[in-house]
Amino acid sequence: MPSKDRTLTAVKLPKDWSPAGWRQHVALQQPTYPDAAALEGVQEELRALPPLVTSWEILSLKQQLAEAQEGKRFLLQGGDCAETFDGCTPDVISNRLKVLLQMSLVLVHGMRKPVVRVGRFAGQYAKPRSADMETIGDVSLPSYRGDLVNGPEFTEAARIPDPRRMIKGHARSAMTMNFVRSLIDGGFADLHHPEYWNLEWVGHSPLAEEYRRMVTAIGDAVRFMETLSGQEVHNLNRVDFYTSHEALLLPYEESQTRQVPRHWGWFNLSTHYPWIGMRTADLEGAHVDYFRGIRNPIAIKVGPSVHPDQLLKLIDVLNPDDEAGRLTFIHRMGAKAIEEKLPPLLNAVQRDGRRVLWVCDPMHGNTESTTNGYKTRRFRNIRSELEMAFELHAAAGTRLGGVHLELTGEDVTECLGGARELTESDLERAYKSTVDPRLNYEQALEVAMLIVRKQAQ
Ligand code: PEP
Ligand code: MN
Repeated sequence: MPSKDRTLTAVKLPKDWSPAGWRQHVALQQPTYPDAAALEGVQEELRALPPLVTSWEILSLKQQLAEAQEGKRFLLQGGDCAETFDGCTPDVISNRLKVLLQMSLVLVHGMRKPVVRVGRFAGQYAKPRSADMETIGDVSLPSYRGDLVNGPEFTEAARIPDPRRMIKGHARSAMTMNFVRSLIDGGFADLHHPEYWNLEWVGHSPLAEEYRRMVTAIGDAVRFMETLSGQEVHNLNRVDFYTSHEALLLPYEESQTRQVPRHWGWFNLSTHYPWIGMRTADLEGAHVDYFRGIRNPIAIKVGPSVHPDQLLKLIDVLNPDDEAGRLTFIHRMGAKAIEEKLPPLLNAVQRDGRRVLWVCDPMHGNTESTTNGYKTRRFRNIRSELEMAFELHAAAGTRLGGVHLELTGEDVTECLGGARELTESDLERAYKSTVDPRLNYEQALEVAMLIVRKQAQ
């Protein structure tokens, strides 16, 4: 056993666990594949392909998340609700990266602590749905479950779950990772050149002005430090980016779950930081069983119906050894419910002395439909949930250690309000999401500035 694996003595292998053991449990939100042999063939193929990430990276992220639990770092996790195969293009990938880099610059500058950057990308292709079937007129077809499963077009052919899509999803994820890694290694994320991160389509904007002032101040500070020390501030041109997705489609995740030569145990090598969605977080369910056996840092979405006892039992199953950096709770209560629902959960975990990273997703509890038929979110509700989250954590003596957001670098009008005060009639102009509404550039920057203001209070 390798001596470098520092958690070795503290953490034990879970009992009676295997990558396929989830099959003994109820697996919600899974498609019904028409051809079992084709599915098995695809899994075989996936098992033989190279992994998308390595155990080394996974363990270094876990270490950074452990530091976020202690308040030494802040987690910024963001990206599309659902990536699409068509959206695997250089512009979509680099624009999303630019927004995340700009936000993280605002956070680093304002909070004076390092930011852990995690994209909701390179694998965010499977979606939970509220109904198995979608009905339009008198036609009922299986719901669209994300590009990893079936196609969004409302035709019988598109909606049949096709296991070959997993091979394509794996390849698209690899291409996305490859491009992100190359951009970063090539110097795209270099703090000396924040001008690389400007989005071409953004015209004059009051927030962009504030951001530019911040960039100038940081540039001056960097040059000042370099003048003083006579050398380049080295670690400023290196930025780590990690990936995450909802590990929903279990046959796919199972095929990417491996043992590696230098670290003990099992790793999900399709992403650094998988999470369990709100609809599949049942203690007895297949997803929780699968997650308990992998060594990745993991997250769970926590909605307003979760009871404090349930949360403690989830900790028992998912982090029995109280390992640092292992478990994140992403609460997504909605602006209306957070004040009532969050404090009992914070108090229960606090009383029990359990180690978790608390993260706020101010998006998913605030989804609504407009009269003209768009799924949207009001920026003021997003802002209010996030502000309340900071206040409720402060009151409970716990720490909000990060945010989880749906955002894009594309010019979209999907969420209402924000700096440009988007209204319902603006939604028609550029609503591009196939699933949930995302923050656009300005709304995302506004969230970053809001976090800085709130945590300074
Ligand atoms: C999501 O993150 O896109 C999602 C479906 O979230 P939740 O599980 O919190 O509803
Ligand atoms: Mn979503």
